[in-house]
Amino acid sequence: MKGPESLFKLIEELRKLPGVGRKTAERLAFYILKSQRHEADALVKAILELKEKVRLCSVCNSITEVDPCNICSDMNREKNLLCVVEEPHDVFAIEKTREFKGSYHVLMGVLSPLDGIGPSDLKIEELLSRVRENGIREVILATNPNLEGEATAMYIAKVLKPFGMKVTRIARGLPVGGDLEYADEVTLTKSIEGRQEM
Ligand SMILES: [Zn+2]
Repeated sequence: MKGPESLFKLIEELRKLPGVGRKTAERLAFYILKSQRHEADALVKAILELKEKVRLCSVCNSITEVDPCNICSDMNREKNLLCVVEEPHDVFAIEKTREFKGSYHVLMGVLSPLDGIGPSDLKIEELLSRVRENGIREVILATNPNLEGEATAMYIAKVLKPFGMKVTRIARGLPVGGDLEYADEVTLTKSIEGRQEM
């Protein structure tokens, strides 16, 4: 194909984004090309600021601009009720329901033997430290309802057993194999409310 090198470069970068195919990448690139200079600058600035400012909370591993994050430092949130999720975007999905008033622990992944991801690759040791130090009354395992999410929940339930606190699993009812992030707020709220002891 012939054309401006810089346009092709942008299309190539946009195609790396999830859910963006060649046609969409081209449409976006042409849109950016046509946009006002200040609009393009704002887009670049937003991306750079995100990369510069956002980091992981040293307590829960969710993403934040201040450490500890707003949820961890909120005195109105229950500190002894811990919801364990796979990724920071799961925290966002549950926060959108506005129903959960506890705290979070982000594992930063799931157990996946095929990909060589074992317990030491996840924030499980950090979870055990929090459980040991903070007198947690209940841990809700809110990993995704797929094979790896279930296996991870089972594993964590097992390592938490000696601590004797209540360990629950969010209810099925989420679409099978569907991730938390795609569940609507009502479904997610029901799934947390209907959690069952493991
Ligand atoms: Zn936090």
